[in-house]
Amino acid sequence: MAQTMPNFLRKRAYLTPERPAISYFNQQLSFRELYDRSLQVAGSLAALGVKKRSLTGVLVKNSLESAVFLYALQLLGSTAVMLNNRLSAAELSFQLSDAKAEFLIYEHTFKDLAYEASGKVSKVKMFPLEDLAGGDVTDVPIEQELSLDDVCTIMYTSGTTGNPKGVLQTYGNHFWSASASALNLGLSQDDTWLCSVPIFHISGFSILMRSVIYGMHIVLHSHFDAKKSLEDIEAKKVTIMSVVGTTLTRIVDELGDGRLPEHFRCMLLGGGPAPLPLLEACRSRNIPVFQTYGMTETASQSVTLAPEYSLEKLGSAGKPLFPVSLKIELQDGREAAEGEAGEILLKGPNVTPGYLNRPEETAKKIVDGWLHTGDIGFLDEEGFLYVLDRRSDLIISGGENIYPAEIESVLLSHPGVKEAGVTGLPNSEWGQVPAAFVVLVEEAGPSADELRHYCQEKLAKYKVPREFYFAKELPRNASNKLLRRKLAELIEEAGK
Ligand code: ATP
Ligand code: MG
Repeated sequence: MAQTMPNFLRKRAYLTPERPAISYFNQQLSFRELYDRSLQVAGSLAALGVKKRSLTGVLVKNSLESAVFLYALQLLGSTAVMLNNRLSAAELSFQLSDAKAEFLIYEHTFKDLAYEASGKVSKVKMFPLEDLAGGDVTDVPIEQELSLDDVCTIMYTSGTTGNPKGVLQTYGNHFWSASASALNLGLSQDDTWLCSVPIFHISGFSILMRSVIYGMHIVLHSHFDAKKSLEDIEAKKVTIMSVVGTTLTRIVDELGDGRLPEHFRCMLLGGGPAPLPLLEACRSRNIPVFQTYGMTETASQSVTLAPEYSLEKLGSAGKPLFPVSLKIELQDGREAAEGEAGEILLKGPNVTPGYLNRPEETAKKIVDGWLHTGDIGFLDEEGFLYVLDRRSDLIISGGENIYPAEIESVLLSHPGVKEAGVTGLPNSEWGQVPAAFVVLVEEAGPSADELRHYCQEKLAKYKVPREFYFAKELPRNASNKLLRRKLAELIEEAGK
C-alpha cells in the first residue's frame, strides 16, 4: 500500500504557525495566515468543482496570490498542470489538451492568452485567479492525508530537445527532493530562501515545497532583478538564493567590487552548464556557489557540489545527493569506467514515475528505476560528476566526439562575446564539423578570424569551429535555454 503523510501545509501550520512563511514586496504571511488564506481559496475552488485528482491548468506569474493558490490545490489534492507563461497560445494549447486539463486558472494579465490557448481545447473550465480569494471555509473537503504516490504537479519539460513532455511529480518526489536538499545544504532556523525563478518551473516550485516541509521563510520576487535581489539579501536576511548562469552574471556585475553580507551562505546555481569565467568571478568575490545538476524529471537538484570542493572541482556538478544513485552508461549498455563519458543515469525517490499519457516514452526513459537523462557526463576518480552536454547535441567529427558546451564556454570567455551557440554542420569529409553562432557585445567586436585564433589557442584543432556566424540573437525557448537544433536556421539570416 502506498505510504501517506499528513497534508503538508496543514501540518506545517499546526507545527509552527507563527513563523514567517512567505514575503512578497511589503506583505508577509505566517504559516497560520498562509493556511487560512489557502483554505479560503480552496473553498472557492471546491465551489467551482475542483476536487481530489482534478487536473487544474495553472497560468500564473510569481505573486503571493499565485503561491496561495498553489497551496490551495494541495489542500484539495488537485493536480496542478503548471504552464509556462512565456509560451505562445499554440504551445499552451498543446499542453492543455495533452494533459486533458479540466480547469484553467489564469491571472488576469494572461486573460487573452488563456482564451486564445483554450479556444481549441474542449471542455476546459476557465476562472480568473483574482476571483478565488475570500471563499467559504466551512466544509472545505481538505485532504487530511496525502498519498506519496499521488501526483502533486505535472510539469512540462522545457522542450529544449523536442516537444515538451508532461512530467508527473508526486508528493513523494517533492518530499524527497526537499529532504535531499536539506541533507546536503544543511538547514538552519534562520534560513530564508529568495525565489525569483518562476514558480511554474521546478526551480521555483521546489522552493515553495521546501518552505512548508522545512518551516522556512521564503522571499518571493515577481521576477529577477539584480538590484532588488541584493537589496533583499541585505534587508530580509536572505541566506540562500536559486540562480541560473545569466542571473548570477548580472548579480556579479551589480555587486561590482562589493561583498555579500556574512549571513548569505548559498547561491544554488542550476539550469544548465555554468561557464567557467563566471565561476572564477564568483570565487574572486567570495560568493558561495553550489553548482547543481537536475531536471524536471528529478523534481529539482539531484547532484550538487558541496562547498568544500567548489574550488578544487571547478566545473563539476558534484556528487549525487544522499537518496540518489548515479551511474554512467556506455552505448552498449556497459557501465563506464572512471573518466569515460557516457549517458548519465539517475535513480532515487525524487525521480518521476513517468510522463503523462506516454507509456512508451516512459518505458524507454526509465528502465529498472534508472532514469536515462539524455545528458552525457563522466565521473572522475573521486566520483565527482562532470556534465558534458546533451546526447542529442553531440557533434561527431571524423570519429571524435565534440561537446558544443565546451566550445561555447571558450567563446564566452572572450570579452567581446555576449552569447555563443555551437552546432554540427554536415561535411563530406568529416561527417560533421562544428560551427559557431555568436552575438557580440558591440557590433564592432572581434572578427571571425580573431575568434578562430582565440579558439585555436584554447582548443584541440578538430574542435575549432569551421565557420563563425554573427547574429543579433540566438534561438531560445520559453525557459531562455539555447535551442541548438535551430541554430543552423540562422545561416540564411546571418551575415557570415
Ligand atoms: P527537454 O527535456 O524538453 O528537452 P530540458 O531538458 O531543457 O527540456 P529541463 O528539465 O528544464 O528541460 O532541464 C534539465 C536539463 O538542463 C538537464 O537534462 C541538462 O541537460 C540541463 N542541465 C541542468 N543542470 C545542468 C548542469 N549543472 N550542467 C549541465 N547541464 C545541466
Ligand atoms: Mg530534458
